Amino acid sequence: MGSSLAPKQSSEGLIYTLAQRGTDNNIFSPPHLPNLVVNGNGTDVSDPKKLHGKAKRKLISQSLSRYLVDAAKEAGNYEQAKQYWNAWHCQSNLIKSNGRTFGNYCKTRFCLVCQANRKATLIKKYLPTLSQWEDPHLVTLTIKTVSASKLNKWKEEGMIRGFKLIRDKYRQRHKRGKSIKLMGVKSLECNYNPVKKTYNPHYHIIVPNRETALILKKEWQLYWTKEHTYHGAQHIRKVGNMERDLIEIIKYGSKIFTEPDMVKKGKSKIPPKIYAAALHNIFVAMKGHRIFDKFGFELEKPKLPPKAEQQTLVNYEQIFYDSMVKDWVNYDTGEVLTGYVPKPELEYLLRNRIDKELQ
Ligand SMILES: [Zn+2]
Repeated sequence: MGSSLAPKQSSEGLIYTLAQRGTDNNIFSPPHLPNLVVNGNGTDVSDPKKLHGKAKRKLISQSLSRYLVDAAKEAGNYEQAKQYWNAWHCQSNLIKSNGRTFGNYCKTRFCLVCQANRKATLIKKYLPTLSQWEDPHLVTLTIKTVSASKLNKWKEEGMIRGFKLIRDKYRQRHKRGKSIKLMGVKSLECNYNPVKKTYNPHYHIIVPNRETALILKKEWQLYWTKEHTYHGAQHIRKVGNMERDLIEIIKYGSKIFTEPDMVKKGKSKIPPKIYAAALHNIFVAMKGHRIFDKFGFELEKPKLPPKAEQQTLVNYEQIFYDSMVKDWVNYDTGEVLTGYVPKPELEYLLRNRIDKELQ
């Protein structure tokens, strides 16, 4: 009997076990690698474009998480620092077999690799229902910018409570037959303003009709009064392309790259920056809160994919993400997984434009 390692359960339910060596089914396996049992279907790595996208996200994510770790430590938040390390390690060690890779996803909010998966899942889940809405509108609701120390208070008491009160009010009205039912999907986002050193929490909400959009805007202004929100900063526009707008609002809580002079993207003469300490403040403030959520309606029953079977890999290779190579490498053969080469602009940004100080 061969020895086997205890099964290791990852956050996504993947189990790696070094299986007992079979007697007749591993004639093709390299002599030094025992058969490997994995759960799940793995990730298809046959599309070079997708692979390059993943390599780019991994590169940005890993560069960013190092600075987030520093920001968290500086704030004495070691629990959060651990989470950032999880993002740093996400998908770093992979098993490659038959055009698929198997490995752990960290599933943290600040991981760009996992964010892409989350986006895809949410689109699949929501698009069939939202596409049926006849006159969808996108509403943006803001409050006045706040300082870092007040960010959490404003998120809880301002954004979340404010929206809940409006919903409750209209739930009652709807019950009495005096209003339409409020429904939609909402996404809480917060960006950093490096000029004023402030934060601007806001909601992006997609609703099925203009009437709902107008109600939300009116009630938000009524609730917040001019003291706490600029009336001109609440926007309503028609949704032209539902998929594009849905992707747009399923962000992970904040922009990563910010223009230091706050001039519109692409129009600024100064290259964008990543403000790591500010992002850390935002991630901490958003912790424990659902960033993307629906209200007032149920989704069509999702067609669940068949449960992934456990499988035994006989031929496989181990590949490792190498921060210097910026790719996954098989150190036995020297082969890389994606062949991704970052653009010089991105390399420049990641090397020179990550700022961990709150200026
Ligand atoms: Zn991840």
